[in-house]
Amino acid sequence: PVDRTPEMQASRQKLPIIGEEQVIMETINENAVIIVCGETGSGKTTQVPQFLYEAGYAHGGGIIGVTEPRRVAAISMSKRVAAEMNLTDREVSYQIRYEGNVTPDTHVKFMTDGVLLKEVQQDFLLLKYSTIIVDEAHERSVYTDILIGLLSRIVPLRAKPPVIKVDSRQYPVTIHFNRRTPDDYLTEAYRKTCKIHQQLAEGGILVFVTGQQEVQTLCRKLKKAFPHHKGQVLPNINLNNYSVEPTDEEAEMEQGDNSDARVFDPPPEGCRLCVVATNVAETSLTIPNIRYVVDTGKTKTKFYDKVTGVSTFRITWTSKASANQRAGRAGRVGPGHCYRLYSSAMFNDNFPQFSPPEITRRPVDDLVLQMKDMSIDKVANFPFPTPPDTDQIKAAETLLVSLGALSEPEKPKTFKAKVAKTAPTSKITALGRAMASFPIAPRYARMLAMGHQQELLPYVIAAVAALSVDQLFVEFQAPADAQNEDEDLKRRIQNINNVKRMWAGTGNSLLLGDLMVLLKAVGACEYEGLSPEFCARYGIRSKAMKEVRKLRTQLTNTVNMALPEVNLCVDPKLTPPTDRQAKLLRQIVATGLADHVARLMPDLPPGVEGDSKKHKHAYQCTELEDPVYIHPTSALYHKDKEYVVYQHIHETSRPYMKGVVAVEAE
Ligand code: ADP
Ligand code: MG
Repeated sequence: PVDRTPEMQASRQKLPIIGEEQVIMETINENAVIIVCGETGSGKTTQVPQFLYEAGYAHGGGIIGVTEPRRVAAISMSKRVAAEMNLTDREVSYQIRYEGNVTPDTHVKFMTDGVLLKEVQQDFLLLKYSTIIVDEAHERSVYTDILIGLLSRIVPLRAKPPVIKVDSRQYPVTIHFNRRTPDDYLTEAYRKTCKIHQQLAEGGILVFVTGQQEVQTLCRKLKKAFPHHKGQVLPNINLNNYSVEPTDEEAEMEQGDNSDARVFDPPPEGCRLCVVATNVAETSLTIPNIRYVVDTGKTKTKFYDKVTGVSTFRITWTSKASANQRAGRAGRVGPGHCYRLYSSAMFNDNFPQFSPPEITRRPVDDLVLQMKDMSIDKVANFPFPTPPDTDQIKAAETLLVSLGALSEPEKPKTFKAKVAKTAPTSKITALGRAMASFPIAPRYARMLAMGHQQELLPYVIAAVAALSVDQLFVEFQAPADAQNEDEDLKRRIQNINNVKRMWAGTGNSLLLGDLMVLLKAVGACEYEGLSPEFCARYGIRSKAMKEVRKLRTQLTNTVNMALPEVNLCVDPKLTPPTDRQAKLLRQIVATGLADHVARLMPDLPPGVEGDSKKHKHAYQCTELEDPVYIHPTSALYHKDKEYVVYQHIHETSRPYMKGVVAVEAE
């Protein structure tokens, strides 16, 4: 029996999924696996857990588990469902990587997919749960994909899962294609948004662009065009201020630092709500009162070269499925309009049906290690919904063997085995198990496993925490449209780079390079109590720094659990390492990055034909034929140290090594 308030009851009644409760529950009762699909906003996430709860699924031994690909959704949905059911967060709770409010009284638990994946390792049958809801499964996040593969083994699959289609959005959305596809989609988005605001009836506008920089540029232009004064206002609320999972892509897109969710508040009287957002707003979060959607059709995605591992961000057309999701956001409160800033021919001919799942688009070393830790040795044979590239799996196994996490694959011993050509499998080692227990990439876990000597652990923990959080420093791009700001920005960037040089210091400290800068940044920020002003002045993302703090705490706890005799505590302020410690740290870092070594190329001898500019300060690494470079923002820029290791290579105007540390020649 759920005691909802009359208001909640009334607002639930409006959701299309409410009419399907009986069908959904009957289907769940009769089948092991079911799929529920329906438009964004139809009530899947908030209502299905309540249907299950009311049908007694949380009271027969076992709780209702809901996985989300993003932390923000796990947190906000647990709060929403608790509010709708008039229960507290002791009963409807959440768990994400660093924190949660689950209690023994929890009946409904929202969590990230990664959290449930970890739990499978302790409790393969997931006996704690009566039901698992895998939300946003269509997004095909890597962890969701693995979960589905595992669940397909955990739940003996019967026939074909029935599909229940929840009837679509409440109101029709009229799609307007541009006649031509403009080159400059951002200017076009600006123009269209102004036009809607000036000419069309009330209702919020939701604009989809590709990244933080674009959000800021567009917001600035809109604010300028419609300054905030009485009667005629266009407050813009940037969804990127909503705190979101820092996957690589999102960290690039979400450089905002406020985690308040102002998008859910009604706009001030006489104002129009305009939300400029990246594709985070496509699903998961329903922003109220949106009537107009302006869709650039673009999306920013991180690509990895399969052979070299070099990453780049590319702006591409989104998929038809996601364009339709975006359009659907306009039909929540009444009939809506979606303005697609591209032609229908472009949509038909150049938009893929679906976006490729994440698992096919990124390195898989962490997954392979997690799976080996679950004794899934033949990763290539695992029933993934979409398997990762076999070359990627091989590359991951090679790396893990070199890090000592996996044993060398056994050579076929018998003649019969040789003839059968069974692929050799490598098994997890004791070191590998220790590494798998840390919620960080295998390379960094390896560094951590080496650190428990010479009182280095606090530094290694801080270092791997900082390396694991993407983009601790804001990556500035000069706005193309503002001359004066350009000068200011240049000066600011110059100042920040000077501070970094100072932080790098001299001797072994300097040789520790970018890592030394990270360590000093962590210490300095903690000293200043993570003040947003301090972070802003030094070009540090305070949200990322908060992640580092949480990760340091978590890693410290994990180490203490594994090695109780160490009895580590977090000294937030972290006095800088001594010269000798810096030297040892360089060795530890080099072990984790042993396959990421680059050597300075000699300058071209005078008189030799060739591109001497290309050769100056250039490095040769093992993965690429072409030279790679040290970024101007790096502490080791133009220091011409002969050997360096790097975190990864990211290509912008040139292939740049990120996270560079100088090492000794072997
Ligand atoms: P779906 O999962 O099908 O996309 P949801 O269950 O997330 O749909 O949302 C159903 C409805 O609940 C939407 O109309 C949404 O506006 C409303 N809703 C969700 N979260 C909140 C919230 N925090 N505050 C107010 N309304 C919310
Ligand atoms: Mg949902």
